[in-house]
Amino acid sequence: MVQDPSCLFCKIVERKIPSTVVYETDDALAFRDIHPQAPVHIVIVPKKHIPTITDVTLPDLHLINALFVAGNRIVEEEQIRDKGFRLVMNCRRDGGQTVDHLHLHLLGGRQMHWPPG
Ligand code: 5GP
Ligand code: ZN
Repeated sequence: MVQDPSCLFCKIVERKIPSTVVYETDDALAFRDIHPQAPVHIVIVPKKHIPTITDVTLPDLHLINALFVAGNRIVEEEQIRDKGFRLVMNCRRDGGQTVDHLHLHLLGGRQMHWPPG
C-alpha cells in the first residue's frame, strides 16, 4: 500500500508511532486520540493515505463506508450506542483539519453541544 512517509497517521497505521488501537480491519484503523475532547474520543482512519474528503475517488468510496462500519462497532464496544455520540470529519483549514490524512472523529461519553466552536 502506497503511504506518505511524512504523514503522522500513516506512521500510526504502520505502527511506526505507537497508539492505543481499539479496532482494525483490512481497510481501517481506529485509535484513541492523544488529546481527548470527550471521555470517548477515537480517531478512525482509512489505512490508505487520502489527504482529505475532497480527495476521495469513486474506487475509494468503500473506504469511507469502512470508517462508518468501524464507528458502529466501536460505539457498541464503548457502550455509547444508545446514549449517543458524535461523528465529525474536519476538512482543510477552515474545517479545523490539522492532520492531512482523512479521519473521522468519534466523540462520546458526555453531552455534546451545538453549534460547535
Ligand atoms: P484534526 O484536527 O485533523 O481533525 O484531528 C487530528 C487529531 O489527531 C487531533 O484530535 C489530535 O489530538 C490527534 N493527534 C495528533 N497527533 C496524534 C498522535 O500522535 N497520536 C494520537 N493518538 N492522536 C493524535
Ligand atoms: Zn497518511
